[in-house]
Amino acid sequence: MAVIAGNWKMHMGAARTRSFFAELRLDEGAAKNELLLFPPIVSLQLASECADRDPRIQLGVQNIHWEDEGAFTGETSALMAKEAGASHVLIGHSERRHVFGETNDEVALKIQAGCRHGLTPVVCVGETLGERRDGRVAEVILKQLDAALGAMEGAGEQNGRLLIAYEPVWAIGTGETATPDDAARAHRTLRTRLESVLGLAAAVRTPILYGGSVKPQNAADLLAAADVDGVLVGGASLDPASFAQIASAGGG
Ligand code: PEP
Repeated sequence: MAVIAGNWKMHMGAARTRSFFAELRLDEGAAKNELLLFPPIVSLQLASECADRDPRIQLGVQNIHWEDEGAFTGETSALMAKEAGASHVLIGHSERRHVFGETNDEVALKIQAGCRHGLTPVVCVGETLGERRDGRVAEVILKQLDAALGAMEGAGEQNGRLLIAYEPVWAIGTGETATPDDAARAHRTLRTRLESVLGLAAAVRTPILYGGSVKPQNAADLLAAADVDGVLVGGASLDPASFAQIASAGGG
């Protein structure tokens, strides 16, 4: 079973959300996989009503604030996301880190807020092109992973469910994809750290997704790579036909 997740980013208002679900045709290949969609918060309630008709699809939010409520204009809490139908939360997506300046400390607070309210964190890690050219891939992604694992432990959730998404920043929305070998190498680095911190059993049951220009054409090869347990898809998840094709790739 693979995890196939779609991050809609700042796309898909009510009309497009409704038509996405009306047009989505999932085949039996998709039934073998775990499907997750991350709509924008404004479409979450509607997506939740539409997805209700298809129990294969779970929903998440793309970001949360770490406080439960308060004077934080424009923010959404884990509590509210849960109430609106989310079961998962994306944390530390590269656009949050690099466009909005989110730090590892903030990522840690958000993980703890998600855990407090029963949202499963999907924590994104990944290096920039400069960091890759400097040979710092392992250093960067392990530092990000360590912050996430520290937060899980701080929340008393070291045995709780956590998903990691390896998303090299240079591959997001660029059409550049890591090769299956690149992905496998980074995923092995992450898995080895999970094993040394959480133990073998937890390391094996923690899904590590690859993200970065995943398309119907490359999804199966990426999903076949060692230690790749799923994919996090941005652009290609906006089209119901593309998402359905990816959803049935690598099933089994
Ligand atoms: C993403 O948004 O997490 C992502 C990987 O985007 P894209 O598939 O468009 O590169």
